[in-house]
Amino acid sequence: MKSMYAEASLYGPLRKNGWMTKKDLALEVIRRLKKEYPRTECTLDYDDAWKLLVSVRLAAQCTDERVNRIVPGLFARFPDPKALGDADVNVIEEIVRPCGLGPSKARDIKACMQELVTRFDGKVPDTMEELLSLPGVGRKSANLILGDVFGQPAVVTDTHCIRLSNRIGLVKDEKDPAKVEAALRKIVPPEEGNDLCHRFVDHGRAVCTARTDPFCDKCVLKDICAYAGKRKTAAKPSKKA
Ligand code: SF4
Repeated sequence: MKSMYAEASLYGPLRKNGWMTKKDLALEVIRRLKKEYPRTECTLDYDDAWKLLVSVRLAAQCTDERVNRIVPGLFARFPDPKALGDADVNVIEEIVRPCGLGPSKARDIKACMQELVTRFDGKVPDTMEELLSLPGVGRKSANLILGDVFGQPAVVTDTHCIRLSNRIGLVKDEKDPAKVEAALRKIVPPEEGNDLCHRFVDHGRAVCTARTDPFCDKCVLKDICAYAGKRKTAAKPSKKA
């Protein structure tokens, strides 16, 4: 059976009207979301790069809001990478437990801070390769650090980015984060990628929610979105026999 994303991506102005390339579509989405969310930023609180590294690990399968509530206690007790790297992993786990996956997150955070101190003099590195070499840091986290901390081109493929990219029709039936990232990098101007992903989060929370019937009627993308077009067609009454 085809997934909803697969069916949705076959529909929409992109294919129906034949005038809009995926690049055109991406630019139009960027333009409209910029207008809708003029100020956008990472919703994890941080005042230092290493703290964002910790928070982004804690944010896996947890809300940013909860992470923001938990980390002040962690950073008050362990105020720098060395202190956190030297900390008893059980104590870290106890503090971060409300974020879920306590044992693995505590283990990764301690190991990551240890390597940050021993290999990078306590400074967060600014290359994808070096970031990926740190324990618990995947492409999503590395992109977030590169984009938000270092202002480098970045595409953060979190759940909102993947859902919206598929629904809108920027990618076709693609759930793999690395493949979505690669596809978006081809059609999104490098300097726009990071903020677009933040705006996907804004829009994903406010309008294009994870439910199967998001608020398309209120959406600024409804006339160019493949998923909205598909739903509209499905809602049309069938002709009487
Ligand atoms: S809310 Fe509807 S129209 Fe808007 S992006 Fe999501 S699926 Fe498309």
